[in-house]
Amino acid sequence: MSEVQFDYTRQDASGASCTAHAWAKVPAPLTPAQRDDLKQRAAALLKARNAVLVAHYYVDGDLQDLALETGGCVADSLEMARFGRDHAAQTLVVAGVRFMGESAKILSPGKTVLMPDLDATCSLDLGCPPEDFAAFCDAHPDRQVVVYANTSAAVKARADWMVTSSCALAIVRHLKEQGQKILWAPDRHLGRYIQEETGADMLLWNGACIVHDEFKGVELELLKAQHPEAMVLVHPESPRSVVQLADVVGSTSQMLNAVIHGSAKEYIVATDNLIMHRMRQLAPGKVLIEAPTAGNSATCKSCAHCPWMAMNGLQGVVDCLERGVGEIHVDAATGEQAVHCITRMLDFVAAHPSALAPKVQGMVRGIGAA
Ligand code: SF4
Repeated sequence: MSEVQFDYTRQDASGASCTAHAWAKVPAPLTPAQRDDLKQRAAALLKARNAVLVAHYYVDGDLQDLALETGGCVADSLEMARFGRDHAAQTLVVAGVRFMGESAKILSPGKTVLMPDLDATCSLDLGCPPEDFAAFCDAHPDRQVVVYANTSAAVKARADWMVTSSCALAIVRHLKEQGQKILWAPDRHLGRYIQEETGADMLLWNGACIVHDEFKGVELELLKAQHPEAMVLVHPESPRSVVQLADVVGSTSQMLNAVIHGSAKEYIVATDNLIMHRMRQLAPGKVLIEAPTAGNSATCKSCAHCPWMAMNGLQGVVDCLERGVGEIHVDAATGEQAVHCITRMLDFVAAHPSALAPKVQGMVRGIGAA
């Protein structure tokens, strides 16, 4: 196994893509009356426009509820892609971040794809500019290019495979069995985790998620000592020191399944804290504890919530359906190239349903395959 780090340190940018801009655009809290009014208007517009709402687990709870109440879905990025592709609605409203809207458009070029705020992006996407990534690929033509879903359409157009955190391990393991060497981008923590789990020969891009990068291993150890019976659930975009303390390592869907089916009463959760909205609905009575993002080993305190996911609100759903703003466009040639790596992943997952099982470390306390 070899590892060569591609040194790419630019993680943030200015203007529409900086986190301060994102926080400034986060919708103000609604009164109950405002929330009811907007939900009713959004539901009526979804019906009138033959549209369906596809929401990520990290967006506002009201949006998650609206999606489920109107026949849409709340899911991780893999399921969002599948749902949008297979649903009969002619318009998809994607509540999440831009790469999710782009993936929906690439898979369904004939549909209209709208988003509550087109400025909602992702530090992984920002940290992997297509031109730099193309140069990285050109320098290593002997490798299969595997990219995480959290990338632009242009980066996917250059890839052989797209993966999500649900299926990344299985696909890389499959490629290794075929004797393939891999070029991986953009999340360095997820890439390192997959490399260690599979033993595959991987070159890693040096990107990170600004939310998961903040979880702290030292403080998590202290928290575990206070809750010795708690099951620790960690998303693999987290640093190694955090992943090493996990009972379950998996995607948001896999973490959700762990809470629903786990026999433990308490769960320490290391991912965006908005996932707890759905966890509380599906596993009432379970005690959910946020994994620490601060303490003696922290340089700053993070809120464990993605500023770009937070930009999604009910008003944005109403606006995009009422006024047609926030439409996602993907250049046709780019989309035609990018669709291959996404379709390849979806076909692989359909042929290998067991590929979605989460990684369960050490003792297994009542967790089945997710
Ligand atoms: S939580 Fe992290 S990976 Fe997800 S959209 Fe936000 S910055 Fe990107």
